[in-house]
Formats: sequence, C-alpha cells, structure tokens
Amino acid sequence: MTTRWIITVSEMKAFAAETRLRGKSVALVPTMGALHEGHFSLVRQAKIQCNAAVVSIFVNPTQFGSTEDFTRYPRSPEKDLEFLTPLGVDAVFAPSSREIYPAGFATFLDPGHIATVFEGAARPGHFRGVATVVFKLFNIVRPDIAFFGQKDFQQVVVIRRLVEDLNLPVRIMVCPIVREADGLAKSSRNAYLSAQDRKAALLLSRSLKRAEEMAEAGEVDAQRILEEIHKTFAAEPRLQLDYAAIVSPATLEPVAAVSPGSVALVAARLGTIRLIDNLIFGPLGSSPELRLQLALTAQAPDKESGALPRPDIERLRLRIENCRDCAAVSSVSLPAREFLAKYLQRHYPDLECVRVLVIGRCAPMNPSQFLYCHPEAPNQFATRLYDLLGVKSFAEFKARFALTDGARCHAAGPLVDERALAHCIQYLHEELKLFPSLQSIVILGEDAYLQFQKHILGRGRASIRPFAELLKLEGWAQETVRLPWYGERDLRIFYCYHPAVETKKSPSLAPHLG
Ligand code: AMP
Repeated sequence: MTTRWIITVSEMKAFAAETRLRGKSVALVPTMGALHEGHFSLVRQAKIQCNAAVVSIFVNPTQFGSTEDFTRYPRSPEKDLEFLTPLGVDAVFAPSSREIYPAGFATFLDPGHIATVFEGAARPGHFRGVATVVFKLFNIVRPDIAFFGQKDFQQVVVIRRLVEDLNLPVRIMVCPIVREADGLAKSSRNAYLSAQDRKAALLLSRSLKRAEEMAEAGEVDAQRILEEIHKTFAAEPRLQLDYAAIVSPATLEPVAAVSPGSVALVAARLGTIRLIDNLIFGPLGSSPELRLQLALTAQAPDKESGALPRPDIERLRLRIENCRDCAAVSSVSLPAREFLAKYLQRHYPDLECVRVLVIGRCAPMNPSQFLYCHPEAPNQFATRLYDLLGVKSFAEFKARFALTDGARCHAAGPLVDERALAHCIQYLHEELKLFPSLQSIVILGEDAYLQFQKHILGRGRASIRPFAELLKLEGWAQETVRLPWYGERDLRIFYCYHPAVETKKSPSLAPHLG
C-alpha cells in the first residue's frame, strides 16, 4: 500500500470525500511532524478504529508566540513519510502555511477561559491557534474520529470543548502518554535537549512518579503532593518550574483533594526549551487507559452547590449505542465492536465453520495487546486460554475457535444502568447470529457468566447460582440450553474461570470440545 502525500486543501477534501463514498470510516491524527512513538501510538489506534487513516503534518504558525520556536521547530517530512507508510496510513496531509492561511485570512476561534490558564497563560494565543487549525482540519478532512495524545492534556480539554460547543460531527479519542524507557515523555522538542538537559528534564516525570507514589500510599492532600513536586524541582536549578498543579480534569480548576481522575500538570523550562508532562491519578495499579477514562468521563461539579451532577445515563446510553463512541468513551477495555467485526471478517471468512465460540473479556486494556494482534508473542491471557482449550498456537486456536468479548462490555461499572448494558447485549445477540453452526460456547469468568445468565439466557438474579459455588466441584461447569432466537437445537455452554483475571484455573476443556 502506498501513502498519498497531499499538500493542497482541495486534494485533501477530494481524497476524504472519495474514501467516505466507498463506505470507509476516516480517522485523522493531527501532528506537527518530527514524528516519534507517541505519534505512532495514535496512528495505530486510528488504524484499529477506522478503515482509513489520515495524518496531518503542519507546524501551525498561529499557535506559536512571536518569541517561540516556530522557525526552529524540528521538521523531517521525508523521514515522517518513511515511518507512516509501513503503519498503513492512507494519506499524509502536509499543507504549507499559505495553503491553510491564505492572504486575507482573518477568522479565529476563541476557546474561552480554559485557554487562558497553564499553557494558555504561559503561551498567550496558543490555544486560539490550536482551536482554529484543528477546526479547519476537521472541516477539510471531515474525520469520523480524531486522535489526540494525553501528553497535551489541556489541548485535549480545549478540543473536546470545541467539539461539544460547536456541535462538530467528530469523535475525539485520546491515547495515553508514550514515554522513553527512563520515563521522559516522548516529544518532538526532546531533539533540542543536550545530554545534560536530557538528564535534568527527567525531573518532570520523576516528580509525577513521586506524586503517584504518595497518592497510592494514601495521601489525598493536593497541597502536600504539590510541595513534594516543588521539592523535586528545587534540586535542579537549571530547570525552571513554570507551574505544577493538581486539577479537576473537567474544568482544570485546582482541587484540594486528589481523587481518581484528578490530573497533575507540570511545565518547566530548560533555557529556552519548554517541556510539559502530566499524570492522571487512578486506583492502585490501574492502567493508563482506565485513568484516561476516569478523567474524560469526569463531570464538573455544580458551581453553586459544589455537588457532582448525577451521571447522565441517557447520554451514556446513546454513546454506547454507537460502538465508535464506546471506544472513545471507554478505556477501550475490550476490542471495540468495529475492531471485532473487522477481525471476524478478516480472519473468519467462513464463519459457519466455527463450532465453538469463546466469550470473555481479553484482559489487557490495550487493544494492540489482544491476542489477535501479536499471535507470535502470546500474552498471559492467550497462553492460559490455549491451555484451557487444549491448543498450542494462535493458528490452531483460530482454526477451531472464535473469541468475542463478554457481554459485560464497556458497560461495566457503577455508572452504567441496565438499559446501557442491554445495548451491549444486543451486539452480542447479533454476533452470535454470525455463527450459525455453533455447538458450544465457552464462557470465561464471572462477569461474562453473570451477564450471559441474565441477558442471554434471561434468568432472574434469584435463579443464578453463585459462580464460585457452580465451579467448586470440577473447576468448571456445563449445561445444555436452547435459545429460541438462535435455532431449535441444543447448545452446550461451558463455564470456566477467566484465564487471566481470576487466580483459580479451570482444567483443560479439550476432551469435551472434540
Ligand atoms: P504534536 O506533533 O506535538 O503536535 O503532537 C501531535 C499529537 O501527538 C498530539 O495529539 C499530541 O498530544 C500527541 N503526542 C505527542 N507526544 C506524545 C506522547 N509522548 N505520547 C502520546 N501522544 C503524544
């Protein structure tokens, strides 16, 4: 596959329109080039979530102040293209400044108060430039989903506000920060750092790590955590701390007490080089994706009463109805439905061959680690699953089984009501119908068991036996059922411990699966 290099607005518009006409969904990854692993993580997500991926490379002059590094900003278009082609990027949009801001250009977007604090205070006009160029890129490419990095957390807040306030028909997906092995957040500006600077720059991520440790040890007082961050910076006089704050993710207002989803923001200067980093607090050991989910779904407290609004269940339900939204709203805690559908189409051209369907959530939060993505390097979930089913490799697994995620879906968690869950179940119903010759279904883990019993078999809570009791005797259990909507024939259902989540293991089912 070749990657189209596009430099004019008209060609970009035509390319995107053609792609949409062919029924393909379009992803946009806006960047300023000098690409690195942080950018690639967005591109990989874009490829998973959409049929076509466009990466824009544009060093946007309007987001740089007059004394900033616009002319000096690293540019490496040839190298960027070399990186993007193997990632399967369909088009790179690399317009000139004149193409985006032709003579007479005069209209700018004003993102309001949120753009005047932190980065906005240090770089007046920065977010006005960002909002304007992103709005223009959205209008030119008209993507279904646009991908941004948590690295620029305030930018994410500004863009999400822009999309909401101006009713833009695009979903925003945010990906976690990609770091160097020693913790430094990857950034195009790291290229400016001398060896000595590079060492000093580590204090940003170190101070955040220390903040995380304090929170994990039970410290909730934001002030005390901030004092510790200041102390870390004081040890390195070459590094000028610009700001350190712990804020609510919804409003960027400082908080007194840290809670899951709160964000610590830091910015510092090394001479003329400005570096930023951030940390989302979350439950002990929680994944970056879960933390992002906590931050992005947080709501602003009521200005007068200070109370948190009740969860907007209706809105959440609407989002879950649209699987793309699910991927954006949730922590991508399972293969998004589109991803799964794509996978099934690609790997199971003849779905009628599948006799055994496995239902259970693949444990890693990051879809790139699902077992289909790296068959050659099976993760813990995959190896234990193969063990349970009595197969040796992904190839063998694929020849006999298909895996779909648990009915619990994105809808797990206290904020999600039954109606939302019912939507996920509908998807599962549809998926089951894709496999007309099923003989057996293997259910992995308690979550999937409960949801299967309740929503697929239609059993009331009172008649569902506790999972642990059911599995106590053999380490697994089976029953034979008929699903009226599926066909008048018996289906064998096997219930087992989840291969990666639960501590107990079920013995191999191989002798029973034929
Ligand atoms: P930039 O080229 O710096 O404008 O960045 C383009 C996009 O990549 C933005 O959405 C950034 O937040 C994102 N990005 C930059 N660095 C990283 C990183 N280390 N990890 C994840 N995303 C990043």
